[in-house]
Amino acid sequence: MDLDFDRKHIWHPYSSLIDPPPVYPIERADGVRIYLEDGRGLVDGMSSWWSALHGYNVPELNAAMQAQMEKMSHVMFGGLTHGPAIDLCRKLVEITPEPLQRVFLADSGSVSVEVAIKMALQYWQSRGRPQKNRLLALRNGYHGDTFGAMATCDPVTGMHHLFASQLTQHLFAPAPQPKYDEPCSDEDIAELQQLIEKNHAQLAAVILEPIVQGAGGMRFYSPQYLQRVRALCDEHQLLLIADEIATGFGRSGKLFACEHAGISPDILTLGKALTGGTMTLAATLCTDKVAEGICRGEAGVFMHGPTFMGNPLACAAANASIDLLLAGPWQQRVSAIEGQLQRELAPLRQSSAVADVRALGAIGVVEMREPVNMMQVQEALIARGVWLRPFGKLVYAMPPYVISEEDLGQLTGAMVEVLGDL
Ligand SMILES: *Cc1c(COP(=O)(O)O)cnc(C)c1O
Repeated sequence: MDLDFDRKHIWHPYSSLIDPPPVYPIERADGVRIYLEDGRGLVDGMSSWWSALHGYNVPELNAAMQAQMEKMSHVMFGGLTHGPAIDLCRKLVEITPEPLQRVFLADSGSVSVEVAIKMALQYWQSRGRPQKNRLLALRNGYHGDTFGAMATCDPVTGMHHLFASQLTQHLFAPAPQPKYDEPCSDEDIAELQQLIEKNHAQLAAVILEPIVQGAGGMRFYSPQYLQRVRALCDEHQLLLIADEIATGFGRSGKLFACEHAGISPDILTLGKALTGGTMTLAATLCTDKVAEGICRGEAGVFMHGPTFMGNPLACAAANASIDLLLAGPWQQRVSAIEGQLQRELAPLRQSSAVADVRALGAIGVVEMREPVNMMQVQEALIARGVWLRPFGKLVYAMPPYVISEEDLGQLTGAMVEVLGDL
C-alpha cells in the first residue's frame, strides 16, 4: 500500500497532514481479527468505534448485502419507498421503547443528531412557542462533529472549542456524578434542576447519552439520574433527546441504555452498530406527539431529506444485523464480557498510574491519571496482537460481542501488561 501517498494526501480522523501520526495498513478483517498487510492478525478491541457487533466478514450480513445489491444499491427516497426501509423501520419501532413510533433514516450519527435537534425546534415552533429554542446538554457529553451536534458537545472535552464563536450557545449541566450502581440524591440533580427551573421557557429539550457517556469521557452513571431528568422534562415541558448512537443494540447490557432506567425519550438517535459495522446509516425516532406536533405546524412537513436517505443496501445490512443479534444469546455474551473485563482489568487498580477501572456491558475502561502517549501505547498493544485506540487518559475496550474468552483474555492481558508498566 502506498503509505506515502496516504501521509501526504489523506486526512484521517482528527489528524495532521504536516505531522501525520502512523496509520497501519489493513488488508482484510474476519471474525474478531483485523489483518495487517504483513499478515499479522490483531484482536479487535474497538468494534470499529462501537459498530462491528458481530465482528467482520459476517456471512449473514454479506449475503443480505449481496442479495440487495442485485436488486438495487440505491434509489432516492423522495416519492419512492422499498422493502428494506419498511422492514427496518418496523423493527426499530418494535424493539425501541413503545412510545417511539416514527422513524427518520439518516446517513450518519451526527446527521441523526442534527435531525433530532431540528425535530425539537420545529416541534416548539409548531406549538407556537418559538422562544423554546435552546438545548440543555451535559458536560462530558459527545454528540457528533457537525455544527448543530458540536454545539451540544462538552465545550471542553468535546474537541470543538475552536468553533465556539460559531456555535449556538446552549446550556450545560455538570456531568452526572452518581455512578452506575449508586442512587441519585437531590444534591446530585440540583444544578440540572435549577437550570431547568430557571430556563424552561427557552429550552426545547434536554439532550444526553443515557447511562454511558462515550467519547466525552467513557463514564457510566446512575439510572436514577436518568429517571429524574425524565421527570423534570415532563414537569417543565421539555422534550428529552436520548442519543443512543454508541449505546444502542446491546452495548451497555440492555438492548437500549434507556432500559436501565425504564424510561423512554421523546426523540431517540441510533447509528454506529445499526448496520453491524458494515455501512453508514443512522436513524432518529420520535413519538406520535412530536411527529404530529411538527406536521400540524406552519411548515406542515419535517424539513430534512438527505440524498442517500434510506439507502437500501444499508437498510438490508441493518435488517440482517438486527436479526442476527436478536436470534443469538447476546445478553449472555455481553454479560460474560462484562464479568471478564471486570475480573481481568481489576489488577490495574493497584497501579499508581491508574485512576479508575470500570466495566459496564461490553465496555471496559481504564482511566489513567495522565494522558497516555497514544502512539507509544498503540504500538506496544499491536506488538501484543491487539487493536485499541487510546484517547487522552482513557484506554478502553469494546470488543465485538462474538469475541471468545481466550481472545478477550489476550486483549485484557495486553492492557494489563502495557498499562501496568506506565
Ligand atoms: C459517534 C457518536 C455520534 C456521531 O456519530 P457519527 O456517525 O460519527 O457522525 C453521536 N453521538 C454519539 C453518542 C456517538 O457516540
